[in-house]
Amino acid sequence: MGYLRGFMEFSRKDQETRDPIERIKDWEEYTIRLDDKDLKQQAARCMDCGTPFCHTGINFDQSDIGCPVNNFIPEWNELVSEGDWKHALERLEETNNFPEFTGRVCPAPCEGSCTLAINDDPVAIKTIENEIIERGFDEGWVEANPPQHRTGQHVAVIGSGPAGLAAADQLNQQGHYVTVYERDDRPGGLLMYGIPNMKLEKDTIDRRVNLLKEEGIMFECNTEVGKDITREELKQQYDAVILCTGAQEHRDVPAENRDSKGIHFAMDYLTESTKALKTDPDQAPIHARGKNVIVIGGGDTGADCVATALRQECNRVVQFGKHPASPEDREEDNPWPLFPMTFKLDYGYKESLEANEEDPRKYEILTQAFESDADGNVKSLRTVRVEKVMEDGKLVTKEIPNSEEIWEADLVLVAIGFTGPEREVLEHFGLELDERGRIWTVDGTKDYSTSEAGVFAAGDARRGQSLVVWAIREGREVAEQVGQFLQTEETVDLV
Ligand code: FAD
Repeated sequence: MGYLRGFMEFSRKDQETRDPIERIKDWEEYTIRLDDKDLKQQAARCMDCGTPFCHTGINFDQSDIGCPVNNFIPEWNELVSEGDWKHALERLEETNNFPEFTGRVCPAPCEGSCTLAINDDPVAIKTIENEIIERGFDEGWVEANPPQHRTGQHVAVIGSGPAGLAAADQLNQQGHYVTVYERDDRPGGLLMYGIPNMKLEKDTIDRRVNLLKEEGIMFECNTEVGKDITREELKQQYDAVILCTGAQEHRDVPAENRDSKGIHFAMDYLTESTKALKTDPDQAPIHARGKNVIVIGGGDTGADCVATALRQECNRVVQFGKHPASPEDREEDNPWPLFPMTFKLDYGYKESLEANEEDPRKYEILTQAFESDADGNVKSLRTVRVEKVMEDGKLVTKEIPNSEEIWEADLVLVAIGFTGPEREVLEHFGLELDERGRIWTVDGTKDYSTSEAGVFAAGDARRGQSLVVWAIREGREVAEQVGQFLQTEETVDLV
């Protein structure tokens, strides 16, 4: 390592964030890049620990810890601390197809396993990753790099989220002709229509997709596999098919009057609000302006809804979460270095909520019923408070007597996650599912073959609801396996 005592000299400094009162007036990203001196110092905090769990590691229960794509973090930290951004970019691109996505939205399990985090703040790895790739784009170092040879074999990738894009990128670089089918109007999956613009600007996705197109990948948007093109047609036209269709089957709230008007799934709300940014944000079909909004669900999706409702100038927003947690929370059975499972406020919306004079997060609340007016529009929610108690050696949820409350609401957003992949396309392919309703693949680890020969699956559709970085890893791994599968068939023309 070039700089041995950086961790003793410098404290952690993250990307700064824009003033909450200002940033809720627009839809732009909320982070501000650090300057050159700060970045070099932050990279110099990497301490040559000798066992870089950030890069890869195995937990006591054999689960992975650290970076799921195994980024060479200590190496690029050293290069950045020396100001050698170009070589840092080369090292980063070896393991991560899309650092501009993970550098913005990854919860950074690498930082959760940084050795320095034992008794200090971890190295600001995510901030450094994002800066390496953004410099690469600023300096013109990131350019289209089409493959030199073509094998003549064709692969169809269904779904253009991070798993599909990573698989397509890897297989195209191997020389196969790749076509990505996407039912939405723009590629990106949940990166495009899920994660809101202030966390990940949509131009960032278009920028990458344009490079992939220049490199030869074909995109067929507005095309739903199973309806607009069939399994039989795909199998006739392609040598292999990869399903990266995500896990967007909604989980619903089983409460009375759920069919009242004004109750929407978070994904419909977030998708419409992002689509409207292209033309007029005020024209989003589901809009929070002037409304009392209740968000049911305390995870990232719920937080994204709160941040969106604030930007749409709602009257008031309240978010129901399961239980409070703080980054300091570590149970005895969850010691370092394990991923810190926290109620994440990592894009700083907390301050903007406090600016609204109250913390809108309410914990341990169960919705019993929705109440509506004569026209069927939702007017309020009836809830009860709950607590966890031990019963017969098991932790169970119990309602607290006399804790009923009524919450005024004219827009309710259901953000309690997904039960698994959507069934239609899987039934169309006649695929076997596992016990949790995900696409079954051989032994559920690094073998991505499904129950049908020549059909593979990766990302949330195989893994269940997860993270962008895991989708990228699965996309890379399935591409490797499909590449081997295609080698068993003859290659033809060269270009
Ligand atoms: P997806 O991104 O879901 O993409 C699947 C694609 O397949 C979609 O575009 C869909 O339209 C398409 N498709 C489905 N069926 C068909 C069909 N029949 N024909 C054609 N196309 C089809 N993760 C993070 O790491 N950080 C975050 O901050 C974060 N925030 C999130 C916020 C929200 C609101 C949500 C819902 C998720 C968030 N996640 C986050 C999770 C992350 O986005 C997902 O784990 C990741 O996108 C999964 O990638 P994927 O490629 O497997 O699937």
